[in-house]
Amino acid sequence: MNEMLGDETISSWLERRLFYASLGGESQFSCGIREYLDARANSDADYYSDQDFGCLVSMLPYIPPDLSLHKMPATSFMLIPSLERINFCPACVKDDLKTKKTAVWREQWSLGWYVICVKHRCTLCSLGTEHRVDSTKYRAEKACKFLIENAYLNPHSRQSNEYPLSSVLPIDRTVKVLANEIDGLAFIMQLRIQQLTMYKPSIASAELALIYDLMSVMLRSHVRRIEAAPFCYQLVKKITGRNFSIPRQLSGDASVALSGIAQVVEPYPRLLAMALSAFLLELPGSQARWLRASQLFAEMGMLVPGDKGLLYAALAGVPELGIKSWFFKRISRYPIELRMLCRKFSLDS
Ligand SMILES: [Zn+2]
Repeated sequence: MNEMLGDETISSWLERRLFYASLGGESQFSCGIREYLDARANSDADYYSDQDFGCLVSMLPYIPPDLSLHKMPATSFMLIPSLERINFCPACVKDDLKTKKTAVWREQWSLGWYVICVKHRCTLCSLGTEHRVDSTKYRAEKACKFLIENAYLNPHSRQSNEYPLSSVLPIDRTVKVLANEIDGLAFIMQLRIQQLTMYKPSIASAELALIYDLMSVMLRSHVRRIEAAPFCYQLVKKITGRNFSIPRQLSGDASVALSGIAQVVEPYPRLLAMALSAFLLELPGSQARWLRASQLFAEMGMLVPGDKGLLYAALAGVPELGIKSWFFKRISRYPIELRMLCRKFSLDS
């Protein structure tokens, strides 16, 4: 249990050591580490500057061989702010509870585009925005408690390997099939982003910027006097039956509305925006999936365009808001292939 996992954050490893020490297992782990962690409340809880890292290393009774590899996140693309990293894979935490007695907080969970666990293929859960963590001390504890309260540890809930989305999905079969299609689409986008973050910035940055722009359009704030809730959130509600908190604003300024994406803490709205982006950007495997999804929406009484142009028009909202003209200007800055791809869906609207 001493070793650091390949995708574990440093703070998770430290918290685990302190947890084992509190059980009497690692008495050489001093209380100075607790003070060190708490004193970092205003910095990033998981990642460390050279100076912070040096200070930490000098305090540790022993140092895992690859500790320094975990000093910085693998990518900063859509890195969630430190205290809002409240999303986790319920299946990973359940395994950890059995084998390590506490949760191991993974680096990937702090990335806004990592919405489906690659190992378990289930959607990430959220502690909920009311559980924003002010210290890494309580994060694992809250995740374990969340699982127990939501009966994830009950053997009767293990018949299928599927985990409901934040335990909020009704069990209706159509909704379940639809949610699976949406998960599949989001996973296609997640793998693409993962691939792009491993390329050189000169190759990947334009496509990552486009993905972020599209998601900003879909997950913009709700400008109440100008339009109804953004279409993406209406779709989220249809699938989950839940009202996720939508960032709101009164001003009709497009640039302010577009910054709403940064306030989306829970994974499901981001997952849906990624699914829609996979279809609009024609990622392999996305077209047939989206057609099936739009038919399933129709079965549930919601007309959702199967056509890219109409879907984009619905997602980007009324022209008065200025989102469409903003995106149109952005397109002109992309490299030619991406420009052509975007014009296929955004030109007529
Ligand atoms: Zn997992």
